[in-house]
Amino acid sequence: MKTVRRGILGLLLIAPLAAEPLPDAWTSLKPAWAAAHLKLAHELLKGGAIGFSDTQAGLARQLEGAQTDGAKEYLERRGKVKPPDKGWEEADWKGYETKRLTLYRKEAKEAAELLDKEAETWALRLDPDQAKVRKRRGEEKIPGLGWLPSETAANLRKGLVRFGDAWVKPDPAKSVSWEKAYGIPTEHFLVMSTLPRERALEIASDLEALYRIWEEILEGIGPARGEGENPKVWALQTAADLQACVAAIYPAGVETVRDPGTPGLAATNRNAFFDEQGPQRFGHSIRIGLFHEGSHLIHFDVPGSDVRSAPVWAVEGTAVLMETLETVKSPDWNAAAPPFRATARAFAAVVPEAVPALPGMDKPVFYQDNQTHYAQAFLLAHWLLYGHGGLHRADFLRYALGIGGGGEIPPCKGEALAGEIQRYLKSLKR
Ligand SMILES: [Zn+2]
Repeated sequence: MKTVRRGILGLLLIAPLAAEPLPDAWTSLKPAWAAAHLKLAHELLKGGAIGFSDTQAGLARQLEGAQTDGAKEYLERRGKVKPPDKGWEEADWKGYETKRLTLYRKEAKEAAELLDKEAETWALRLDPDQAKVRKRRGEEKIPGLGWLPSETAANLRKGLVRFGDAWVKPDPAKSVSWEKAYGIPTEHFLVMSTLPRERALEIASDLEALYRIWEEILEGIGPARGEGENPKVWALQTAADLQACVAAIYPAGVETVRDPGTPGLAATNRNAFFDEQGPQRFGHSIRIGLFHEGSHLIHFDVPGSDVRSAPVWAVEGTAVLMETLETVKSPDWNAAAPPFRATARAFAAVVPEAVPALPGMDKPVFYQDNQTHYAQAFLLAHWLLYGHGGLHRADFLRYALGIGGGGEIPPCKGEALAGEIQRYLKSLKR
């Protein structure tokens, strides 16, 4: 008797749970998550890591709104904290990463149990490798290329490439010009190439590594997943073919790519263009070029971000910051203390004497010559993200990425800013 009843109860409990979980399961989970993020926020705030604590409080706010007692209490305490003079160092990032990932993975696992679209989005935002959600979406991970539909993954594993709508064996004799380029789809990009397949795969995996680093540093702010076509990155053999490709796809960029000093180009129509020698002609590796232009492509697709009307420093500052991270080999690396890892080229530009009063930096045009503007845009982005324990980090995300309506960065005006940045640079050089 007992056995039979248990059997029926088991069935009743298990069957509906698998097909249709309680509708309010996600709703009841949100306050618990918000509380956990706020707890971490307060802990970080005590150590003066304002940027990190803001991120955690921001997650709580997104889960529960800004009007809760917890959200108000955080703002009150944050207002009383004295920001530290220095930026973050590697140990700060590592400590933060450990705490953050432990919490994120636990929550993503909880969310994966719910068949709820919003919960699923959160699960992947907190843990892009959440296997249960990925499996349910019919996706498989291909090393270096990210999570892809299983059919695409199977074709890639067979060594095929995409040509039009078909999957074919790569044929170097056929892929002689951009019009005959084959495609390698990745999770966030489509690489169109005339290079040998192995080379195109390296480029594809550099781009995916960039995407992970971008998400890590810019706190999960990225294009929406799995919606619409991915941006295209053209990786071609010769400069002449590159010019022909740009002339056909983005005529406004022809003059730019004819200049042998152009390492690559990202166009607002979501195409980026390289020839294999381009970045070398410019004096650096193609990986740096991919990180810079790939960063623009990601930026174009961030929902709510208006790159076309943003000031150049915000757009280029973000891209140069990503450039400085190209030496990072692991896509799950815990973000940046960029000055300590920066490439020689980027860091050579970081000299206190070069920081001006920044007049005109907020205009949608280049300030002075390109090189100076790029260097200064990098400094400004860097200072906003990392200076004073990340005090202005939220401003950067709001302004440079256009999240939450953009607006002006209050400390971004006048000579006081140059002084601030100079002090920050000195503290880094110690
Ligand atoms: Zn750029």
